[in-house]
Amino acid sequence: LVQLSMPLNFMGMIYREIKQALIDIDDMFRILGQNPEIADRPGAEPLRVAGGTVRFEDVRFAYTPERPILRGVAFEIPAGHTVAVVGPSGAGKSTLSRLLFRFYEPSAGRITIDGQDIAGVTQGSLRAAIGMVPQDTVLFNDTIGYNIRYGRADASEAEVREAARLAQIDGFVSGLPEGYDTPVGERGLKLSGGEKQRVAIARTILKGPPILVLDEATSALDSFTEAQIQGALDRVSRGRTTLVIAHRLSTVVNADAILVLDRGVIAERGTHAELLARGGLYAALWARQREADAARAVLAREADAP
Ligand code: ATP
Repeated sequence: LVQLSMPLNFMGMIYREIKQALIDIDDMFRILGQNPEIADRPGAEPLRVAGGTVRFEDVRFAYTPERPILRGVAFEIPAGHTVAVVGPSGAGKSTLSRLLFRFYEPSAGRITIDGQDIAGVTQGSLRAAIGMVPQDTVLFNDTIGYNIRYGRADASEAEVREAARLAQIDGFVSGLPEGYDTPVGERGLKLSGGEKQRVAIARTILKGPPILVLDEATSALDSFTEAQIQGALDRVSRGRTTLVIAHRLSTVVNADAILVLDRGVIAERGTHAELLARGGLYAALWARQREADAARAVLAREADAP
């Protein structure tokens, strides 16, 4: 039996290692966003970013032909401005960011940056110009310092710390027994959603891209964490062309413009005040969110009560 169980144990160990490696590779592809189906076109030129104006021109898209997700979406984010996209779950908000990264290509229409169709530029130059703070940040099985430095491999120790400070994660990291050398990820310290998002913000601050995509976390964060992340996001988006994919509405109030996406089209657009005054879909989403927030606050109070 011993003779049999030893190799089985060994195989189990190998299996777990391979499975872990596969997860890592999968994560790496998610981080690097390599969709093998989309490659540089022959003669692709590097993207030349002047101010970083982003335009979606009558963009249509479907993951599967029978189910159109975007049915003619047009908007512009002038250089340095912030546009937030809101809308019901499944409306196609995150799809906009996947198209901007060219993980997928529009079936019709085009997306330009400073007038250049992103379909005709090199993937490397496009990805270098855009910083992404995703909903769910994937961490490498390495130290937290490494995970932040991933934004720019040649960043100095001081720059890593400064980025962490701006992202409001420095206090947390410094409080860990091993500080920036603390292993994180599947095999190390597990970070909360809010902490991971701040690592992503620090990475993006180090990268310093002219264009930013913030895909807000879907899950509700506690109000302290939310305020911290909000502060960090405000800082990183200042002076950069920013697309906010807002799954909650807290981030959108100060956006230069808000787009309300509904069933693949932009149903309303305007500032927070304009859209509230209009009394349409945005006003209804806002009212619903406030009710949900109020209900959560009551539940939290009840949970705290002795
Ligand atoms: P939420 O606020 O819930 O995150 P969203 O507006 O960001 O929603 P998207 O993630 O853009 O929505 O998805 C739009 C629709 O496309 C959804 O119905 C989703 O199920 C579908 N979808 C997303 N990714 C894929 C995919 N890889 N293949 C097929 N369908 C997909």
